[in-house]
Amino acid sequence: MPARPPIVAGNWKMNLDRAQGRALAATAVARRHEAASTELVLCPPAVYLDTVGAALAGSDIGLGAQNAHDKPSGAFTGEVASAMLVDVGCRYVILGHSERRTLCGETDAVVNQKTKAALAAGLVPIVCVGETLEEREAGRTTDVVATQVRGSLAGLSPEHIEKLVVAYEPVWAIGTGKVATPAQAQEVHALIRRILGELATPAVANRVRIQYGGSVKPDNVADLAAQPDIDGALVGGASLKADDFLAIAKAFARA
Ligand code: PEP
Repeated sequence: MPARPPIVAGNWKMNLDRAQGRALAATAVARRHEAASTELVLCPPAVYLDTVGAALAGSDIGLGAQNAHDKPSGAFTGEVASAMLVDVGCRYVILGHSERRTLCGETDAVVNQKTKAALAAGLVPIVCVGETLEEREAGRTTDVVATQVRGSLAGLSPEHIEKLVVAYEPVWAIGTGKVATPAQAQEVHALIRRILGELATPAVANRVRIQYGGSVKPDNVADLAAQPDIDGALVGGASLKADDFLAIAKAFARA
C-alpha cells in the first residue's frame, strides 16, 4: 500500500442528464479494473446522486457531492446538509471550488465551516484552493494559496486533517485548456504540504492526498502524475467522457 493512495475525482458540475449520468457511472464500474489502484470518485449534480449511487452499488467507486451546507438542518431553502449526503450514499464532498468561491461568494471562513460540518458527518471533504491569473502574475501565488489553506482548515485537529483531500486548482487553468506546468503544480503542492505540516504534523501532512485540478487531460496527465506531491486529480471537463476519465485515473495508478 503506497503512503498516499492516488485519488481521482470527476466533478461533473451542472452537466449530463440522468440517463447520461447513469450510463457514465455504469461504464466506470465496468472498466474500473483499468485503474485498479486509483481511488475513484464521481461527483454528479445533487439531484442525480441517488441514481449514480445506484449505478455504483457493489463497486468501490465513491460517490461525492459538489457542495454541502454547514448546518445540519433548518430553514435553508435550496441547501443540502452533509448528513443528507451521507444518507444517499456519499462518501466525499467537494468544498470551496473556485466557481463557488467566485459565483456564490464562499470565503475561507465559509469553506472552513462547511469542512468542519462535512467531517462531523463522516464525509471526506475535497477542499479546493487556487490562485487567479492576476494573483499569479502579481507574484502572489504563495500568499494566496497559503491563506486559503490556513483559513479553510483553521481549527481542525490533526486527525481531521489526515482524513481530508486538498485540491490545488489554479483558477486560470480551470476549463481553459491552460494546464499548470508540472513544475508549477509541484511547487504549490509542496507548499500546501508544508502548511499542512504546520497545521497538523509533518507525518500527518505526508499522508494527506493533494490533487491537482485544471484542464487535466489524458495527454497532459503523465508529467503531472510523476510529481512527488501530486497524488491525483480533480477533473472537470475530461470526467464527462469515460475514456478520458479512466485514462487519467490510469496515469495515477501505482504498479
Ligand atoms: C474543476 O472544475 O474542478 C476542473 C478541474 O475543471 P477542468 O478539468 O474542466 O479544468
